[in-house]
Amino acid sequence: MTGRRKVCDNPMKDGACDIVIIGAGPAGLAAGIYGARAGLKCFIIEKGAAGGQVMLSPWIENYPGFPRIEGMKLMETMAAHAREYVQIIEGVEVIGIEPKGEEFKITTSSGQLISRGIILATGASHKKLLVPGEEEYYGKGVSYCATCDGFFFRKKKVAVIGGGNTALTEALYLLSIGCDVTLVHRRDALRADQHLQDTANEKKLKIKLSTILEKIIGDGNAVTAVELLDQRTGKKEKMDVDGIFVAVGTVPGSALAKSLCLEMDAQGWVKVDQNYRTNMPFVYAAGDLVGGILQIVSAVHGGAVAALSAFEDLADPYYTRTRLGEKAVCPLPNKKK
Ligand code: NAP
Repeated sequence: MTGRRKVCDNPMKDGACDIVIIGAGPAGLAAGIYGARAGLKCFIIEKGAAGGQVMLSPWIENYPGFPRIEGMKLMETMAAHAREYVQIIEGVEVIGIEPKGEEFKITTSSGQLISRGIILATGASHKKLLVPGEEEYYGKGVSYCATCDGFFFRKKKVAVIGGGNTALTEALYLLSIGCDVTLVHRRDALRADQHLQDTANEKKLKIKLSTILEKIIGDGNAVTAVELLDQRTGKKEKMDVDGIFVAVGTVPGSALAKSLCLEMDAQGWVKVDQNYRTNMPFVYAAGDLVGGILQIVSAVHGGAVAALSAFEDLADPYYTRTRLGEKAVCPLPNKKK
């Protein structure tokens, strides 16, 4: 279907909207497209730049339709698509959300606004190793993003920490730009997809298994080495490196969800039903914030479903209603005997 509409040209000034989407990663962008196309007055608020964490991924090879595309390119394309329907307000942070009667008062770093519903798509951030030297040398050799910082380490020695898809993707990227890479993983096997492991073997990526990074060493200005513990032998080793890329997973960006007292699981991922409704009416959550496989496809799926659930709840279309006291009954398929 064609026919595009722009809504809420200046939401901070013009007042109420149907849906405020917080976060402009894949989930938030998909929610914006689906919400606006369903006819909801909605817009997206993003504290940084549109695109989310995928912007930092060197390559994406498993998003259908794009056999191999840079993360930044994919997200720029997705954001441009979303902008055809919905305004994305970048560089504005949502500071607080206050339920007020049947609406929400949203306080941002650039003003207040009112919305009938909220889709949280606040994503997740890099997990830290929490070892000595990590904080001190952040930006001086310690990095969480190969695409952003890899360039500075060409022809230099780097360690990538982790055994998942991110660690392998980052290690292969760093190898491809000419870094001398060693992957360090705490277990005796990697958990990354077999395809990535096969590529790592083909490219002869150096891998240290069953090895824990215990300490990051530097000269005060820059990283010079890491201290490693081989869990099989109990021996410690000092490995000279110029850079460390930490890729050990993600933690949910759940501050706003917490402030609304939304239900979360033990790891802090926001709990949603299959329609991406949280336990609070008219609040939906999607993308990495709800955990699961943390893939772009699943984030896009969640954003779309959340927006359609918001549409059903706010617009109350005829097909969600039952007739006067009549219960909606799904016809059962005839059972074969
Ligand atoms: P992940 O799959 O959770 O892997 C994290 C890795 O870090 C694991 O190997 C884990 O070790 C290790 N680790 C965790 N805490 C550690 C610590 N304190 N010290 C040392 N090692 C630690 O995270 P991810 O690789 O960032 O991936 C997150 C999600 O995004 C996954 O679902 C992944 O499939 C997806 N992803 C997909 C792609 C892609 O397909 N292109 C790319 C990136 C990410 P253990 O194995 O011992 O737990």
